[in-house]
Amino acid sequence: MKENNLYINALTNPIFEFISTAADNLQLETYVIGGFVRDYFLKRETPKDIDIVAVGSGIKLAEEVAKLLPNKPKVQVFKTYGTAMLRFEDIEIEFVGARKESYNENSRNPNVENGTLEDDQNRRDFTINALALSLNKSNYGLLLDPFDGLGDMDKKIIRTPLNPDITYSDDPLRMMRAIRFATQLGFNIEESSFQSILKNAERIDIITRERIVEELHKIIASPKPSIGFKLLFKTNLLERFFNELTDLVGVEEVEGQRHKDNFYHTLEVVDNISQNTDDLWLRWAALLHDIGKAPTKKFHKTIGWTFHGHEFVGSKMVYKLFKRLKMPLNNKMKFVQKMVLLSSRPIILASEVTDSAVRRLIFDAGDDIESLMTLCEADITTKNPSKFKKYHHNFKIVRQKIKEVEERDHVRNFQPPISGELIMEIFNLQPCREIGIIKDAIKEAILEGEISNDYDSAYDLMLQKAEKLGLKIK
Ligand code: ATP
Repeated sequence: MKENNLYINALTNPIFEFISTAADNLQLETYVIGGFVRDYFLKRETPKDIDIVAVGSGIKLAEEVAKLLPNKPKVQVFKTYGTAMLRFEDIEIEFVGARKESYNENSRNPNVENGTLEDDQNRRDFTINALALSLNKSNYGLLLDPFDGLGDMDKKIIRTPLNPDITYSDDPLRMMRAIRFATQLGFNIEESSFQSILKNAERIDIITRERIVEELHKIIASPKPSIGFKLLFKTNLLERFFNELTDLVGVEEVEGQRHKDNFYHTLEVVDNISQNTDDLWLRWAALLHDIGKAPTKKFHKTIGWTFHGHEFVGSKMVYKLFKRLKMPLNNKMKFVQKMVLLSSRPIILASEVTDSAVRRLIFDAGDDIESLMTLCEADITTKNPSKFKKYHHNFKIVRQKIKEVEERDHVRNFQPPISGELIMEIFNLQPCREIGIIKDAIKEAILEGEISNDYDSAYDLMLQKAEKLGLKIK
C-alpha cells in the first residue's frame, strides 16, 4: 500500500528486514534498486536477483547481513568490482556501494568512484531502472524516483535518465538493452533515444558478441520478438552483427514478378511460433529458417523467382553464424541446423500426403518431428483466408498421417532390423561394400513401404539382395 510515497508492500520478502537491520547497525544509507523495483511496479514476476546499493561499502553491508541470517550464508566478494553477493533461498542478492561513473571512448568499462545515491541513479541506463526504495528503518519503503520512472511506465516508454547521446555512447550495450526492454515490456523507445541509437549504432562494434547474444536471446524469448528485430533493423544495429537477416530485406521485381519480403515474412513466422512454443532454440530455428534464400535467389524467365536448395545452404550458414556470434557449437546448434534443413519438407508433403513420404519425414526428423511441424505451421503467413485455412487443414492431415504411420511402422529412431554384424556373420564377410548395399536396400524398402519394418521381412529381402550380389550363406 502506498502511504506518503512509502511502498512497504514491495518489501514482503523477509530478506529486506535483515538488510534493514544490518544497514542501521552500520549506519549506512541503503536501497533496493533496479530490476526488482521496476518489476514490482510493472507487476512482473519477482526477479531471481535483487540489487542492493549502499552509500558506503556494499561488501561490509553484505557481511553484516550474512551475520544476521540464521543460516550464515557465504558471502562471495568481487574485490575488483567492489561488490558482494549472497544467496537467500533461491534469490541472489548483490550488494554494491553507490558509485559515480565516467567513461572513455574505447571501452564500456567505466572509471568508478564512490558516490551518492543520486550519482548511482544517474549512471543507470533507463528511468524505469533507476527507481530505488529505501531500506533504512527511518524511511523504510520510501520511493526515490528522480527521473519519473513511474510516469514512463504509465506512458510505456524507454527513456534514459541523462542525455541519451552520452548514455548510449558511454556504454553501447544499452542500445541493445533499450530494444530488449521495449520488446519484453511492449514499450516504445522515446524519440530522442531512438535517434541517439541510430546515431551511435556503429559503437555496438565495441561490445562482445557474447553480450549481444545474451540480449538477442531475451528478445527472441519475448512474447512478440518482431518488435525487437524491427527496432534492431531500423536503428541500423542489426546489419552490424546479423547481416544474414538484413540480406533478406526487400522485394525485387523482374518482368512484373515479385517475391515476398523474406525479412518481414521471417519476423511473422517468429511471432507465430512464439504463440505456440517457449523453446528458445525452436524460435531461433524460425528466425533462421529462410536465411539461405538470399544467396540462392534467382530469376528464371519461365518459372519466376526460385530459391533452390536454400534449406541446405541455410543450414550451413547456421554454423557460420553461430561461430561468428560465439554461440556454442553444440546439440542446440545441430537442432537449429536440422530444422532449417527440413523446414520445407512438410510443406511439400501437404500437397500430396503419401505413406512413404511421411515415413521418410519421420525417419529424417526423428524425435524432432513435433518441433518441425510447429515450425511449418508457423510458416503459414498467407493473407488469403481461404489459403490459410487450406494449408492449416493440410497440416492437420499430415499430423494425423504421421501418427498413424508412426503407430504402425515405428520408423522414428529407426534401427535396422538386420544389423551389419549379422550380415557379416551369415555370409562370412569382412567389412565390405556389399554390407552397406544390403543395409541400404532394406532401409529403402521399409521407408517405401515395400516390406514391413520387421526381422523376417528384412531377412527375406537380405537373401534376395545377397543372391544378386553373388554372396553365399556360410
Ligand atoms: P533482467 O534481470 O531482466 O536482465 P535487469 O536490468 O533488472 O534486467 P541487470 O542486467 O542485472 O538486470 O541489471 C540490474 C540493474 O543494473 C538495472 O536495472 C539497471 O539499473 C542497472 N544496469 C544494468 N546494466 C546497465 C548498463 N549497461 N548501464 C546502466 N545501468 C545498467
